[in-house]
Amino acid sequence: MCRPTRGAGGETLTQTGMIYHGSCHCGRVAFALEGAVSAAVTCNCSLCARKGAVLSAVPTERFTLLTAPEASAAYTFNSHAIVHRFCRTCGMQPYSEHAGKDAIYINLNCVEEIDRAGIEIVPFDGRAA
Ligand SMILES: [Zn+2]
Repeated sequence: MCRPTRGAGGETLTQTGMIYHGSCHCGRVAFALEGAVSAAVTCNCSLCARKGAVLSAVPTERFTLLTAPEASAAYTFNSHAIVHRFCRTCGMQPYSEHAGKDAIYINLNCVEEIDRAGIEIVPFDGRAA
C-alpha cells in the first residue's frame, strides 16, 4: 500500500487506488471513496459541533454514491453553500456537498475501515468563518 502524501491545503486525497466504503447507520445511504485520505478537520461551527463530525474534503470525482439519491434529504444553513446530506431513515449525516467548490465533505465517522492513525486531524474554526 502506498503511503499517502500530504498536500498544502490540509484536505488532500491522493491517488493510490484505494477504495473506502462509507454509509449512514442503516445503510440506505452508502458511498465509495477513491484514493487515500490523509487529512481531516474537526469543525466547531454550530452544526459540526452538534454532530461531532470528522470531515475530510475530497474532489467530487472521487466520490460515488452507491444508493438511491432520494434516500437522503438535504439540510442547509447560514450561506447555504454546503448541502448537508442526511439519511431519511436513520438521520445519520455521512457527507455534505459543496457544489461551488466541486468538493464533497466526508464524515469519516461513517467510514468504518479507515485507519485514523495515518490521518492528520486538525481543528477548524468554522464558528469564526
Ligand atoms: Zn440511514
